[in-house]
Amino acid sequence: MNSVKGTKDVLPNNSYIIKYVESVVDEVAKSFYLKEIRTPILEYSSLFKRAIGSDTDVVSKEMFEFDDRAGRTLCLRPEGTAGVVRALIESGLYRNKINRLFYKGAMFRAEKPQKGRLREFHQIGVEIVGDESVYADIDVIMFNIMLLDKLGIRDYELRINSVGCPECRKSYLLKLKEYLSPHLVHMCDTCNKRFETNVLRVLDCKEEKCRKIISSVPTIIDSLCNNCKTNFNNVISLLEINKVNYKIDPMIVRGLDYYNNTVFEIHHSSLGAQSAIAGGGRYDGLFSQFDPKINKFAVGSAIGFERLLILLEELELTKNIKDYSLDYYLVIQEGVNPEKPFEIMKNIRKAGMSIITSGPDRISKQLKDADKLGARFVLIFGEDESKNNTITLKDMSNGRQFTYLIDEFLSYIMRI
Ligand SMILES: [Zn+2]
Ligand SMILES: [Zn+2]
Repeated sequence: MNSVKGTKDVLPNNSYIIKYVESVVDEVAKSFYLKEIRTPILEYSSLFKRAIGSDTDVVSKEMFEFDDRAGRTLCLRPEGTAGVVRALIESGLYRNKINRLFYKGAMFRAEKPQKGRLREFHQIGVEIVGDESVYADIDVIMFNIMLLDKLGIRDYELRINSVGCPECRKSYLLKLKEYLSPHLVHMCDTCNKRFETNVLRVLDCKEEKCRKIISSVPTIIDSLCNNCKTNFNNVISLLEINKVNYKIDPMIVRGLDYYNNTVFEIHHSSLGAQSAIAGGGRYDGLFSQFDPKINKFAVGSAIGFERLLILLEELELTKNIKDYSLDYYLVIQEGVNPEKPFEIMKNIRKAGMSIITSGPDRISKQLKDADKLGARFVLIFGEDESKNNTITLKDMSNGRQFTYLIDEFLSYIMRI
């Protein structure tokens, strides 16, 4: 039996790395006063058709979609934002002035599996809903940056752009079309199609022949209206105040209509060609796409969990992360009453330390097992100990042994 293509087991020998990264995520989220939201992996397909659009690759080619027994079309969520928006509307929480949220969880896309890109992958997302201020944009960016910093990841690059508001984008799209139309004959089929359906996405094309033409398109920043220009300048000056290195990248457009103003990506050169680790932006137009009566400001981002793990490996940062070890191994000699040993185990576990036993057996065999497991201490409860109400402690680092009265040992454990 094999695992499903593009999925990966997390085995016990590296699950502690994942748990560590998650604990850092929780810590950073708390420091930004972001509350966790967990939405189902299973959603109606129509949710993503509405949120992302049926003509996008994600929805038209990459969703794991199927009909349930009642004939409803469901899918495994391909991204996190749509579910969060649905949950806020369904629960009525969207009526709060501001919702500051984060999530972490599995997403599914039927892409060609490659390094750092699985079909079941995980994202850590942030959504700040209801806050118009550019300070919210900065918070979203700084969350990602602080997470990278706390994990010890340096030398990332923040690339930032503005896609303006619907008004200034309209005039930009005209300019873009005007520039591209004489070049279309030299461009790929996808670009020709996108020229008609969503011309902004032409800028995403990776084909050599198209790249050359795209590299000199007019930039959207030059077409921003006064409001959007001020907004962008404010974001930039706040990045400077926060001493964040950034690069203005006019090619970042996140070709979905509901994005406006700030858009950004974070890249790291150690990831190779697929160097993006996080991306996000402002999408004030998304809520009204669900319900025209609901207008909410919103800004968010998602960071790729598997990419984070690759970076930690590549930069040799995992060696600083330690798994927990076995504190005690309890050796019980054959034939003794196990009542006292169980009392000791219970109290050691209550005190937050680990202890295991494999039950009565020969002492020498159990000592070998304890050594193999790397136990720090062995507790021996043999015939003598049973007779005298004592327990023998062996320090496995130096082989030294001490015998204690059980009551004394227990009161010592309970003080820890
Ligand atoms: Zn504008
Ligand atoms: Zn192209």
